[in-house]
Amino acid sequence: MNATRVRIPVDTEDTAIRELVAVREIVHAFLTADRPEEVFQFALERVSPLVGASFASVYLVERGEEVMRLAAAYNWPERFRPFLGQMRVRLGRGPSGEAASERRVVQVPDVFADKSLTDWQEAASEMGFRAIIALPLQTRTGVLGAVAFYFAATEGFDRVERGLLRIVSDQMAATAEKASLIEELRRANAALVESNAELERQYVAALEARRLKDEFLANMSHELRTPLTAVLGYTYLIQEGLAGPLTDEQRTTLGQVTSSSERLLTLIDDLLDLTTLKRGEVTLHIESFDPMTALHEAVASARGRQKDVELHIAPVSDTPLRMQSDRRKVVRILANLLSNAFKFTPRGEIRASVAIHDGMVRFTVQDTGIGIAPEAQDVIFDEFRQVDGSVTRRYGGSGLGLALSRRLARLLGGDITLRSAPAEGSTFIVELPVEYVPDASREALALS
Ligand code: ADP
Repeated sequence: MNATRVRIPVDTEDTAIRELVAVREIVHAFLTADRPEEVFQFALERVSPLVGASFASVYLVERGEEVMRLAAAYNWPERFRPFLGQMRVRLGRGPSGEAASERRVVQVPDVFADKSLTDWQEAASEMGFRAIIALPLQTRTGVLGAVAFYFAATEGFDRVERGLLRIVSDQMAATAEKASLIEELRRANAALVESNAELERQYVAALEARRLKDEFLANMSHELRTPLTAVLGYTYLIQEGLAGPLTDEQRTTLGQVTSSSERLLTLIDDLLDLTTLKRGEVTLHIESFDPMTALHEAVASARGRQKDVELHIAPVSDTPLRMQSDRRKVVRILANLLSNAFKFTPRGEIRASVAIHDGMVRFTVQDTGIGIAPEAQDVIFDEFRQVDGSVTRRYGGSGLGLALSRRLARLLGGDITLRSAPAEGSTFIVELPVEYVPDASREALALS
């Protein structure tokens, strides 16, 4: 292939190559330098001699302010160096300030020929410059500052020079932008790390507070239980006439004392059981039993049965059922559900049944009571949560029964689910494995 070589005058070729090399080096510095100031400094040092500038400087806009501070300086006369750190340039003032605020290249071929720059003439003769070219450091999102080159003699600034300076200033702007993005990222990252640590601290504090609360509840309920059982014991004795005959009025009052004390005792027992469960101090007694018998036991121990609400227990077909689990805990769960059904069903009926499907025993307690609104169906399984949270509640109770029951059911490898609609009634379903199999991780979850 025949290539025609165009001859470039030696001087131009030299300059062009030196410019190219300088730009290449500046781009390289841009890619590798850690701090933008290093790139600015390097660029000023490489470019100033190429364009014949005596000295040069880079100014960056202060965050959210109207002034720029010096970010790099090349070859400033020795006696001015001590003041460079304090140097500030107001946006819009002087060639650099104008270049930044108006986002354009400002050329001053001769400071002494420009009437608008009389302020500058004194500084110019003292520092020894005559011409200035200032370029904005501009990015897609805004202007970050300006770069200015100062020349000892008057300057015409040819197109090639301006082009080179443009490339350099664009490169500087990109560097400053990259640096501020990295800085922002660093700050966001540091904030994230800090808030993570704070969250971690709060989490640990919350865990500790919860542990203390459970410990306190366990101790308190234990302490309350002992005197209360003594009160109940003595009251039973008096009721039985061991301390002498009672009048009708005394009998009625004592009846109220016992029923209130029994309610209190149940509450304390629930609290004690729940905290024992949560502290992982519970032991299971696995035995083989008929789930139907457990259901009957639960009916016998459920409280609050009302006369005009009928209870149906669905009979089980032919062969008796068997399951291997903790009988007393199963009875406890069912008694809680039945007591709730009695309490929240002013009229209608309650149906309870047992069935076995796919290795699971399914107990169902269905009522035609007041029902539970959809949004409350999850929260009622939380401790101390009741649908009616008002001070003058219509139905008594502690809000612990379902929390306790669900934890027990999960501990035994099963769960409790609920179907309910307000004013139509509720169906609680307890599903437990026919044969209990220990599972440490599941137990930990049920206890947490
Ligand atoms: P308690 O009955 O002591 O308040 P539970 O944890 O047993 O506590 O029940 C929590 C709440 O769930 C009750 O206060 C009640 O609002 C609602 N609830 C439970 N069972 C029924 C039910 N069968 N019918 C309607 N609401 C119920």
